[in-house]
Amino acid sequence: MENRKPYDETMPSGKQRLPCFSLQGLRFILKNLTTKSHKIGGKADPTAPKTSDCNSNTPFSRNQRDSMSGTGLDDGLIKSDNVANVLDKALDAGDGILRLTPTWVPRSFLHPGRRIKLHPNDLYAFGADRGGIDERWFASTTEAANEGRVWHEGLSFCLFEGKKFLLKDAIAEQGDRLVGKAVFSKYNRWPVYSKFFDNMGPIPHHMHQSQEDAALVGQEGKPESYYFPPQYNNVDNNFAYTFMGLEPGTTKDQLRRCLENWNRGDNGILDLSRAYRLQRGTGWLIPPGVLHAPGSLCTYEPQWGSDVFGMFQSIVEGRYVPWSLLVKDMPKDKHQDLDFIMGQLDWEKNVDTHFKDANYIEPIVDASKSTTGVSDKWIVYGTIDGKQLFSAKELTIEPGAKTVLKDGAASGWTTVQGKGRIGKLALQTPAMIRFGQNTEDEVFISHDAAVRGIEIENTGSEPLVGLRYFGPDAHSNLPANGAWQKHR
Ligand SMILES: [Zn+2]
Repeated sequence: MENRKPYDETMPSGKQRLPCFSLQGLRFILKNLTTKSHKIGGKADPTAPKTSDCNSNTPFSRNQRDSMSGTGLDDGLIKSDNVANVLDKALDAGDGILRLTPTWVPRSFLHPGRRIKLHPNDLYAFGADRGGIDERWFASTTEAANEGRVWHEGLSFCLFEGKKFLLKDAIAEQGDRLVGKAVFSKYNRWPVYSKFFDNMGPIPHHMHQSQEDAALVGQEGKPESYYFPPQYNNVDNNFAYTFMGLEPGTTKDQLRRCLENWNRGDNGILDLSRAYRLQRGTGWLIPPGVLHAPGSLCTYEPQWGSDVFGMFQSIVEGRYVPWSLLVKDMPKDKHQDLDFIMGQLDWEKNVDTHFKDANYIEPIVDASKSTTGVSDKWIVYGTIDGKQLFSAKELTIEPGAKTVLKDGAASGWTTVQGKGRIGKLALQTPAMIRFGQNTEDEVFISHDAAVRGIEIENTGSEPLVGLRYFGPDAHSNLPANGAWQKHR
């Protein structure tokens, strides 16, 4: 077969650098935000933003502001050397639960879906040249691998009495207490994260490298999983279907031609795949090396803590995808080696005749944690290549009900509906969030608190619903892959 040379990645991509818009207006808004102090059961919430934190009389000098990222998100930051003291106080005050602030991530090649509660005027708050904000990361110690990133992009901040510190620094300081001895001694970090992924249309058919392949470029592999929360999916947006894998019977020559035709327009890779309609309240597991072109439902995505990928589709909704996004996480000398590039796919899993049975997820109620007015469901479960890497649950508490939640392991918690409290901290699902504003919808439940048990109460008039995701080997009773089929 003729071996045409694929697109030369050194050619200009046509992306224009636009001047960065001034952040003064944004700072003005942030400075003038007023937030009342929050009380729970008559006691002040130790993590609630104080009025003074949001005024122009912040404890931070102009110099300090200017030395930071310019986004305002890291205002009040405590550097890693000084985290120990404030971390102790925060853990004591929150009974082992840490308040987190919203972590927004822009993507230059995508179109925001506008469902993650960020104020519409703030979608381009990082600068239009950085792309729109279409992701919010939860309890993350993983950096977003964006070109032109701010220094803390992707990293979650803890908030205590108006001061911020990185969750990453907190875990470096008190790993055993926060993520548990087993996880910390094995990984030396919180090795997973989750995000809301929110786009107007589909994104390119792509894969994430395996551990082995990612290691060639000094990175970690990335299995991932999806859950489509109904609360964040009032509309489908442009294409609520996800292409996954390759049609059984597809040959390697067929796929090779797609790579050879990269610069001729649409390389036709979707003609070799099949799409599944996305259903709210269900999910999928996506092992490394498996192609997927996520559709336009807003997705909660527990995953391994890495941002590696390779895009295999050259045109999406009329927009060109540069070859550089196919090979960005492959060794430099392999960037034109089609056999090597295709070799990063897990071929058997891509052409699996029972792809849906292997990877689709429906929730399963965990009867051991559910009672009258309380329902705890497994929403992400099963193993990937026999390993329990991450998992997630959805807890629903009816108005007036409460429960003591005991998990065997730490988790990142996000409230998606209603209001209440978790231990001593308030929970409130925001209707709209300004960029830089703190919220009461996200916490990190430390290993110690999870094992001891934490009281969660619904104090509102609608169900209180929280999603929480776990790290590796968190459960001894995790349902097996496909376990939902027994409940059909
Ligand atoms: Zn992906």
